[in-house]
Amino acid sequence: MLRIENLHAEIDGKEILKGLTLEVNAGEVHAIMGPNGAGKSTLGYVLGGRPGYEVTAGSVTFNGPEGPCDLLEKEPHERAAAGLFLGFQYPVEIPGVSNVQFLRESLNAQRAGRDEKPLSGAEFLKLARAQADALGLAQDMLKRPVNVGFSGGEKKRNEMVQMGIIDPAFAILDETDSGLDIDALRIVGDGINRIMRRPDKAVLLITHYQRLLDYVKPDRVHVLADGRITRSGGAELAHQLEREGYAEVVA
Ligand code: ADP
Ligand code: MG
Ligand code: MG
Repeated sequence: MLRIENLHAEIDGKEILKGLTLEVNAGEVHAIMGPNGAGKSTLGYVLGGRPGYEVTAGSVTFNGPEGPCDLLEKEPHERAAAGLFLGFQYPVEIPGVSNVQFLRESLNAQRAGRDEKPLSGAEFLKLARAQADALGLAQDMLKRPVNVGFSGGEKKRNEMVQMGIIDPAFAILDETDSGLDIDALRIVGDGINRIMRRPDKAVLLITHYQRLLDYVKPDRVHVLADGRITRSGGAELAHQLEREGYAEVVA
C-alpha cells in the first residue's frame, strides 16, 4: 500500500532522511521507533507534504482506494483526498475556528475530491458526536476552537476523533500516545484498532513506548536512526528496545 524507496529529504539544506526504504502492505500496522532527532516526524511531514521539506532523491508510491500514485507529486490536500491521514506529534491550535467547523470542512473537502455529496449539518453532527463518544471526548469540546486550551491528552483524543470522521485508508500517527494517561492510552489504542484495523487500511505508528503496542499490536517494528531504517523485526523488537535501549540495539 505504501512503498518508500531510498528516500532522501532535507530541511534548510540539512539532510534528515538519508536513504529510507520501507514497505507497508494493506491490513498491516507498522511501528516506527527510534531516538530523538532520528527523523521520525520528518518522515511523517514528508509523506504528508509539509512545505519546507525538500525531497532530493527516492520515491514514494501510494496504492490507496484510487489505485497507485506517485505520492510526492501531489499537493497535501490531494494526498489527504487520496486517503492519507497525518496525526501530529504536536497538534496545532486554531483560534477562531470551531472544532465542528474544522472537522466538517475537512470531511466535505475530501468528499468533494471523491465526487461525493457533502454531509448536511445534521448528518455531520451525528457522526461527530458518535466519534467523540467513542474516544471519550466531551461533547462540548466539539464546539470549542480547535485544540485551544485542550490538555495534551485531549488534543490527542481530538486527533483520533478527526481520524474517525475522516476514515482514512492510511494513517501516520506521530507519538499519538505521548501525554496520555493509562486510561486514555487504552481508549486511543482501541480507537486506532476500531478505525484502522481493516484489510484495506494500514497504519504507520510512530512511538517511543512499547505500552501503546500492547493495545495496537504491530505486524512489524522498525528502528529509524539517523535518517534510515536500521533494523526491522516483529513485535518482539519493541520489547527488546524497551529492555535494552536504542543505543544497544542500533549499534
Ligand atoms: P524525531 O521525530 O525522530 O525526534 P525530527 O524528524 O523531528 O526527529 O527531527 C529530525 C532532525 O531534524 C533533528 O535533528 C531536528 O533538529 C532537525 N530539524 C527538524 N526541523 C528542522 C528545521 N526546521 N530546521 C533545521 N533542522 C530541523
Ligand atoms: Mg522526538
Ligand atoms: Mg518527532
